[in-house]
Amino acid sequence: MNQENCPAVGIDLGTTYSAVAYIDDTGRPVTLVNSEGDLVTPSVVLFESDMAVVGKEALKAIATEAEHVAQCAKRELGERAFHKVLGGRAYPPETLQALVLNKVRRDASRHLGDFKKVVITVPAYFDEVRRKATQDAGYMAGFEVLDIINEPTAAAIAHGFHKGFLNRKGAADMPQKLLVYDLGGGTFDVTVMEIMGHEFCALATDGDVQLGGHDWDQRLVNYVAEEFKKTHNLDPREDPNANGRLWRECEDAKRTLSARTKVSISCDYKGLAMRVEVTREKFEELTQDLLDRTKFTTRQTLQAAGLSWSDIDYVLMVGGSTRMPMVAKMLRDLSGQEPDASVSVDEAVAHGAALHASVILAHERGEISAINVKNVNSHSLGVVASDPRTNRRRNAILIPRNTALPVTAKRVFRTQKPNQKSILVQIVEGESANPDDCSQIGKCVVRDLPVGLPEQTPIEVRFAYQENGRLTVHVNVAGTNAELKHEITRDNSMTTEQLDAWRLYITGQQGDDSHVGSSDDTMTVDEL
Ligand code: AMP
Repeated sequence: MNQENCPAVGIDLGTTYSAVAYIDDTGRPVTLVNSEGDLVTPSVVLFESDMAVVGKEALKAIATEAEHVAQCAKRELGERAFHKVLGGRAYPPETLQALVLNKVRRDASRHLGDFKKVVITVPAYFDEVRRKATQDAGYMAGFEVLDIINEPTAAAIAHGFHKGFLNRKGAADMPQKLLVYDLGGGTFDVTVMEIMGHEFCALATDGDVQLGGHDWDQRLVNYVAEEFKKTHNLDPREDPNANGRLWRECEDAKRTLSARTKVSISCDYKGLAMRVEVTREKFEELTQDLLDRTKFTTRQTLQAAGLSWSDIDYVLMVGGSTRMPMVAKMLRDLSGQEPDASVSVDEAVAHGAALHASVILAHERGEISAINVKNVNSHSLGVVASDPRTNRRRNAILIPRNTALPVTAKRVFRTQKPNQKSILVQIVEGESANPDDCSQIGKCVVRDLPVGLPEQTPIEVRFAYQENGRLTVHVNVAGTNAELKHEITRDNSMTTEQLDAWRLYITGQQGDDSHVGSSDDTMTVDEL
């Protein structure tokens, strides 16, 4: 181990599968096999009595005990509770992610001994709430999260390393522009990046956290179920176990269709059985609109970066779903170049995360300068304001999407009525003008304003947004020099006590201070 008792570990916490890699003595990233001997672990949890079983066995149980199985929790990060009650309990999605991470930690410890420090990856398109939930999941699983980095950035680091255009210190000798197309099990991300020396700059990013291989599976499930219905007048989707069995068959068939041109899918329900033949052509027809959505987003992202295809040195394919031949064909037609999948699509993200961890650890020891990751914000950030002409609530954007980070931005609003006592600044993330269609990030209340404040008093709202996606909000009311108290109340976030209780439940470990600053449910901004 090259890291003085502290291995450099990176985790790709996927919607459907997770992978973990570390940097070996020769400085190369290596994917660790789990206790079942596999390179990837299904991000699936089965609740059995009081026990949580994670991985392959949990995945198998979808066909027989579907109601006890949690799948695709990553898609629900940011919600208060997972959509399904499990073992009589409502689990916040990040606790299910923490159970997956806990298995990954235990399995990796068999090779590496006890370790704590990790880098975890998230889709570039994840908003602040989901990033925070991922960081919390890492803490609850007993980790100290060194950094959360974007999956495409991690893939670009791994690609640069394996292609040899990154040297041992993580720097590129020649500037490179990459488009990373990442289609996993549950999320889709596309990012245009530029690598110059130590700097990894995202130029534009977009995606869909509700689009992935799972949706391709669902189209096959629906097709086969409808064929079954035509023959037997019964719908296997009605029963969770029959549906789970059919889904497993279809997911398997989808993989077969990446290698062969037709497949036969079996479906059984209530003692009746049939086989449905599906050709690759039929499968592609059933899912064309899903692929078109990714194509549209890819085109838009390139445009948002201000580039054309001839500027792009590499089109990288990442994520298990890019094995479907329709993806490479679409990218080839769109870009006019051969997409690159030379770094294993399942391992690239974990490898990049481990390389990033090794650079952070070496930097901590004062050995080399860190890789400098420059991101753009994937969603616009604004506050809810009232439009004086229409009196309608509106999302007043301070930081438009795809702005290079870090950034500070300010905007001046006005009080609504004379002698206003307090001001509520609601912070929202999203592109829509209607705040109800955006996600609520938190709010900041300025109380006890001086008596007699005239109507239309200017209020300056300033956002400071960091590279790691963390936001600080400052509010200044013109003409008041009194110290004002500002609070940002975050929604859907756990308190330190709740996090520690879950950590004890999941890992048996007491809490520590490795999450300081990341888990309070109320944050106080600087007093003005
Ligand atoms: P990831 O989240 O990157 O691990 O990707 C997992 C997704 O890739 C799942 O939806 C898998 O069904 C899908 N997948 C894995 N292998 C293949 C394959 N050979 N053909 C099509 N899809 C695949």
